[in-house]
Amino acid sequence: METDSGYSSTAELQKQGEKLSHALRISAYVFSTGLLIFTALANSVSWFTQSITLGNFWQSTWLEFYEYMEGDEWSIFLIGAALVPALAFWGFNGILLVADITGKPTFITRYRIQLGKNDPVDKKKLWKAIYTALGNQFFVSFPMLVPMFYVMQWWDNTFSKELPTFQWFLVELSIFTVVEEILFYYTHRLGHHPVLYKHIHKKHHEWTAPIGVVSIYAHPIEHIVSNTLPVMTGPMLMGSHIVSVAAWFSIALVTTSISHCGYHLPLLPSPEFHDFHHLKFNQCYGVLGVLDFLHGTDRMFRQTKAFERHKVLLGLTPLSESIPEPPKKEE
Ligand SMILES: [Zn+2]
Ligand SMILES: [Zn+2]
Repeated sequence: METDSGYSSTAELQKQGEKLSHALRISAYVFSTGLLIFTALANSVSWFTQSITLGNFWQSTWLEFYEYMEGDEWSIFLIGAALVPALAFWGFNGILLVADITGKPTFITRYRIQLGKNDPVDKKKLWKAIYTALGNQFFVSFPMLVPMFYVMQWWDNTFSKELPTFQWFLVELSIFTVVEEILFYYTHRLGHHPVLYKHIHKKHHEWTAPIGVVSIYAHPIEHIVSNTLPVMTGPMLMGSHIVSVAAWFSIALVTTSISHCGYHLPLLPSPEFHDFHHLKFNQCYGVLGVLDFLHGTDRMFRQTKAFERHKVLLGLTPLSESIPEPPKKEE
């Protein structure tokens, strides 16, 4: 615990005020941008669906698929909860792996966050990461889908012939994200307890400069508790439709790959926050950063250049060039 006796000084108060207003500005920015994108998407989707002669495009595609599968719930579940997310994960990571191994295309590698690292990536370490990621998917995530299937069947909505509305899907996505943030933050922080760290979480931290597949390079226990359960819990609580589950699992896997990929690419969410966690270990435990702000576990991060770079890159100039690290002091 800290003793902040200087809190009453004007300078300190001002600093606190600035910090709070900064955080509020970020939240306002995130929420307003999110709202704008969601509204725009919702409008275009309803326009799109209404302008199709058959009525609802997604609805009819889903019905066609459902009939093609003869309503076999287990097969539909396997495709939606395992196959589609796995293809999204490996499709996205396939591109990243080419960049990591060959250093090309430079359109990707010029956006490297930790300059000089993984250039090129250590092959032996890379294969170990790929095998572990595959092992975690086949022998941990996959078996966990069996109990999830029965929970979803109990809800009686997951395989409904009627799809949820796009608006409801967005509400669900927000709830899944909040559930994930809470469960991931606390289980991850627990993983940094010295005893648990030594036996479990240390494996994930072998990569101080992570790459995409490292997102699921972890001890099996960590993969159950911190990676899979926080993502599975939301849909299980909400009794979501399998199409929503497929979309959410894919989004979750691709975003965690982005936050580990080591490249701060244009228009994608910023990976600086979690990259900094791999660099410093005791900062930035969460996904969104809200709980880190509340618990003060991002204090050091907020004083770094990485924090200044922690935004969506809207131009083409790499942020490592526009906001470079200060030259290292002689020690
Ligand atoms: Zn990580
Ligand atoms: Zn960690």
